[in-house]
Amino acid sequence: MRSDDRNQPAAPEPGPIVQAIIDQLLATITDLEPCDHDKEAFALWISTRPDHLLCGFCYQAAQVLAEAIQCAACPNTAGNPDRDAVFIAKLRDDLGAHIYLCHACTQADLSTLSDLAPPSENSN
Ligand SMILES: [Zn+2]
Ligand SMILES: [Zn+2]
Repeated sequence: MRSDDRNQPAAPEPGPIVQAIIDQLLATITDLEPCDHDKEAFALWISTRPDHLLCGFCYQAAQVLAEAIQCAACPNTAGNPDRDAVFIAKLRDDLGAHIYLCHACTQADLSTLSDLAPPSENSN
């Protein structure tokens, strides 16, 4: 029942794992230093550079240079476009976040979205 959908791109619905990452980001991101290139511009956080706020240029570079991308929720590697999920979240009007999730966390996050998740170890 969203009345003000503003041309949102089709993106995976963030589940509780992604929401927790976003909440933590919002709580800590004000401590991060923006890069020196363009402090006034829209800033981006990406899980490959968790200690920095990036301008568009640095954000692009961070994606290109990322070799071992770590899942934002666990120590597994992420970034495989065939299996893993990427969430682009707008945190504020001047702030966005690019979150990688590994396959396992993607599945866990998505499964919590269904009302009745199948019991995992409940043999019957
Ligand atoms: Zn920069
Ligand atoms: Zn993970």
